[in-house]
Amino acid sequence: MAKERIPRQALRARDPDERNKDFKEVALGFSEEEALLEAKRCLACKKKPCVAGCPVDIDIPAFVALIAKKDYRGAINKIKEKNNLPAICGRVCPQETQCEVCCVLAGKDKPLAIGSLERFLADWETENPDLTPPKIRNRSGIKAAVVGSGPAGLTAAADLARYGYEVTLFESLSSSGGVLRYGIPEFRLPKKILDRETEYVSSLGVDIKYNILIGRTFTIEDLFKDGYKAIFIGTGAGLPYFLGISGENLNGVYSANEFLTRVNLMRAYEFPKYKTPVRIGQRVAVVGAGNTAMDCVRVAKRLGAKDAMIVYRRSEKEAPARLAEVEHAKEEGIEFRFLTAPLKIEGNDKGEVGSMTCIKMELGEPDSSGRRRPVPIQGSEYVMPVDTAIIAIGQGPNPLIARTTGGFAVDEKSGELKIDENYMTSIKGVFAGGDITTGEGTVIAAMGAGKRAAAAMDRYIRGQK
Ligand code: FAD
Ligand code: SF4
Repeated sequence: MAKERIPRQALRARDPDERNKDFKEVALGFSEEEALLEAKRCLACKKKPCVAGCPVDIDIPAFVALIAKKDYRGAINKIKEKNNLPAICGRVCPQETQCEVCCVLAGKDKPLAIGSLERFLADWETENPDLTPPKIRNRSGIKAAVVGSGPAGLTAAADLARYGYEVTLFESLSSSGGVLRYGIPEFRLPKKILDRETEYVSSLGVDIKYNILIGRTFTIEDLFKDGYKAIFIGTGAGLPYFLGISGENLNGVYSANEFLTRVNLMRAYEFPKYKTPVRIGQRVAVVGAGNTAMDCVRVAKRLGAKDAMIVYRRSEKEAPARLAEVEHAKEEGIEFRFLTAPLKIEGNDKGEVGSMTCIKMELGEPDSSGRRRPVPIQGSEYVMPVDTAIIAIGQGPNPLIARTTGGFAVDEKSGELKIDENYMTSIKGVFAGGDITTGEGTVIAAMGAGKRAAAAMDRYIRGQK
């Protein structure tokens, strides 16, 4: 008789009608029983196609096999050989387009739930902390600087510390994490997880200096004069793009960046404990359909909007957000207006947003991105009342450092810093990675860049000696 297949274990989530009113975490992790069942589904493939899909090369079958043996310490340590931030990646990485899409089980049934297993281990470790000090190569006393504490900067700083350097991490904000803190909301990534991962990076000896804006407080030249032998720039893509339509300067129009920063970093979601005002009203339109747009619209719903909706010019198939986030948004009562583009935003007599004029679209021939181009349907314009409009159509690289330091080669169109195959910019000894070199990407891609850049910096410094 054929052996019965174990079905993929589903990641449970809180009740949509309850969770859309608070900021507590939506997804519940695997229980031990679920993790063990899921781990048993892995075929331990010799060629490990899943590993090829992981931007930081985690040995997936090896850690899954250790779970199946209930060796959770061994399993989490296996992940940590490649990834310093597993609790974060287990929650926000788009596994469905990376490791899981390469899993051979995907062809037969459903892929292994690699992300949920990673999260299970990271959460297990929180309950069972490892008190063994991390391995650090002999401390050399040589100084290395990292600018920006997003996933790229945190990863580069941790690896440089492990290589034995004296690492200072400069961050312009008052806390660490970059987008992980000011962009991704509490209900997807609780801040305490970020605090814990940051403490781990500090425990490696990294000195994190907050409220220092490199390019203003100190320049790159200042850092070299101060004795830093190599510098990593991981300042991300925090410059919001706008639509360029009329009415974008009205009260009640936010860039996604400003809206999420007010809510996350300045804790508007804990009003009145934290007195950060955010104007929401009854009807909120979020323009865009990426992860950022999903975060904005779900936050707006939680802050009391009766109707919170997505306005997107292409169809659902082209939406760049993670599938799970779109599904969660739908369950929470978010309205989706696909194939709809905003034409202008109109104000009321107080100069506040009052309505948005939109036009319906249809899909034409594929454009340079390979996606079918949205084409307006003539005569389909209509006006919808809205109190708040949030523009979430993407962000570009932060330009400050390149502007205040001469000699950086910058991509003219995108503003991204140019780097060579060793992550070095056009300035000797200055390396860069993450969104500042690629535009808005993913957490794991930024981490992968931070990791590879740290290794290149180590080679560079040793070459100099
Ligand atoms: P960032 O995370 O942007 O960090 C840059 C850091 O540098 C910030 O802390 C900033 O304050 C600091 N900084 C900037 N300039 C200076 C300066 N001059 N001096 C000192 N410090 C400076 N990706 C996923 O994989 N999954 C998701 O679910 C997901 N959701 C997202 C949701 C939102 C709302 C957004 C905006 C992005 C999301 N992303 C997601 C993308 C992902 O978060 C980014 O690709 C990633 O954070 C980039 O990392 P980074 O380290 O390059 O930059
Ligand atoms: Fe396991 Fe899937 Fe990787 Fe094969 S491809 S080793 S089944 S996770």
